[in-house]
Amino acid sequence: MNFSEIKKLDESYVLQTYGRNQIAIDRGRGATLWDTEGKEYIDFTSGIGVCSLGYANEAWAKAIYDQAMKVGHISNLFYTEPYARLASKLVPAAGMAAAFFGNSGAEANEGMIKLARKYSFEKYGKGRATIITLKNSFHGRTITTLKATGQDHFHEYFFPFTEGFRYAEANNMDSLMAEADGDVCAVMMELIQGEGGVNPLQREYVQSVAKLCREKDWLLLIDEVQTGIGRTGTLFAFQQFDIEPDVLTFAKGIAGGLPFGGFLVNEKCRNVLRAGDHGSTFGGNPMAAAAGNVVMDAMTPAFLEEVQKKGEYLRRGIAALNSPYVSGVRGMGLMIGAGIQGMAHKELKDKLMAEGLLCLTAGSDTLRLLPPLVITEAEIDKGLEIMARVMK
Ligand SMILES: *Cc1c(COP(=O)(O)O)cnc(C)c1O
Repeated sequence: MNFSEIKKLDESYVLQTYGRNQIAIDRGRGATLWDTEGKEYIDFTSGIGVCSLGYANEAWAKAIYDQAMKVGHISNLFYTEPYARLASKLVPAAGMAAAFFGNSGAEANEGMIKLARKYSFEKYGKGRATIITLKNSFHGRTITTLKATGQDHFHEYFFPFTEGFRYAEANNMDSLMAEADGDVCAVMMELIQGEGGVNPLQREYVQSVAKLCREKDWLLLIDEVQTGIGRTGTLFAFQQFDIEPDVLTFAKGIAGGLPFGGFLVNEKCRNVLRAGDHGSTFGGNPMAAAAGNVVMDAMTPAFLEEVQKKGEYLRRGIAALNSPYVSGVRGMGLMIGAGIQGMAHKELKDKLMAEGLLCLTAGSDTLRLLPPLVITEAEIDKGLEIMARVMK
């Protein structure tokens, strides 16, 4: 099918809930994609930070195929090897105590929220279930994670929302202290606010929050759905902030393109959720877990160092464009935000796409770049050339 045939079918039969780019992607290799009309693109999106090993990665595809030909799915009422293996890689690499596997970021955050409330209930009883999240955050699209998201426009239409969330200004301890009543059980935050505009939190602030959580026995909940699995140049972003989360979530990058998410807990939280408290039909599916094992095997120190280097190279390259449209470059590793001025960020994204470069937007004025972690320097250079042409 060509693009207009696909679009016509989609518009006839699919809920139009996305502001879609006006191309249909057909295939890819590495960090390069082709649409149905044969046009080539450099990919600075990885889906949305998902395809960490790029497109058509042989080891990834083979692991999924091999697992599909053994057993593609079985319920969590049975043990499976890919599941146990993946947990055995993730847990020690993060310095945590145990894993739970689900299917998406929002679902992972739901589990983390459940855990925090149960921890507090068992220790302190009722009336201590409020979770403080940050303004401008994003935690997902379920009724509870929408409410956890600290942006008013996500709190419309779908009443009644889950109770028990309050919001503090990022990087402002006074604002957090103003919410620090006796009903609080946890603080939940992203270390780089992704959807909110690729805004890294200040290290000192994050450490002060961690200290306050320890003092008050609030759980420190870190949403690493976007920042996790090598994206920022370490396996998890928290490892660059010198803090110890009680629970952290991951999803986007973990299985390189298959639906997968989950959370890791420390020793203190290991026995909060017990048999019957939480679960998932698809969570930790053997094919997705097999893919996750390939992704985790790729996360060597040398690979992560390359992510740091390539991120620096791309950030410097954007700054060196001296574009009048760029107000500043932020981010860590290959999670990069460029502040855009003088043009709407979405208009710029469309212009770049027309010239063969795929980017994301975030916040109200940010071009968000999340290239596959395996992107080559040659591919980055091609992307920068396109930016130079469009943004001069
Ligand atoms: C994408 C994202 C989510 C939601 O993940 P889904 O898989 O879309 O449910 C939650 N938190 C953060 C920080 C995200 O970037």
